[in-house]
Amino acid sequence: MTARLVIMGPQGAGKGTQAARLAERLGVPAISTGDIFRANIKGGTELGVLAQSYSARGELVPDEVTNAMVRDRLAQADVEPGFILDGYPRNAAQVDELDAILGEHGVTLDAVVELTADRDELLARLARRAEIEGREDDTPESIARRLDIYAEQTAPLTTAYAARDLLVQVDGIGGIDEVTERLVAALGAVVPDAV
Ligand code: ADP
Repeated sequence: MTARLVIMGPQGAGKGTQAARLAERLGVPAISTGDIFRANIKGGTELGVLAQSYSARGELVPDEVTNAMVRDRLAQADVEPGFILDGYPRNAAQVDELDAILGEHGVTLDAVVELTADRDELLARLARRAEIEGREDDTPESIARRLDIYAEQTAPLTTAYAARDLLVQVDGIGGIDEVTERLVAALGAVVPDAV
């Protein structure tokens, strides 16, 4: 049984939290590009130094860098039963690259889950997260920039995935457990053997 999923949603929608929970249920790794960049920033690697110069401002890391990183990650053995990608793809070029990478492995996506939430709820959650986690890029300017990039470049991808019959939309407002159950129920219709 395999499950190859993308989880999308604006900053603060709860993607990271729900991706980790879903991954555990499905027995596949959750792969967060943001987490990989943060680990590299913390470790002071060359990739980290480069990523930080973009992420601190809320800008996207250049596609060639991000794409190469995802390509490497998806070549690892633990991805055999599937994966949940969180934070990738974020623009049309990354959608094409993901298709190409999966094509080389002879596999395709099973579903793209979009977690939805309105802007007021997102801003309230991000303000709380800034206090609790102290992430370098959770400044008001960076948050605003990331939400703008999401609206301009990432949100339109849902239309493309819907046209491919891959899109599953789930309401991200509510308790963490409640949202997980909604996700599992919604995915049950798409990847019934996996959930
Ligand atoms: P958020 O969704 O709150 O913006 P993430 O943890 O997903 O946070 O990403 C943090 C930062 O990492 C982004 O602002 C961006 O600079 C970089 N990043 C993550 N994923 C990508 C991606 N797919 N393409 C380019 N940059 C990315």
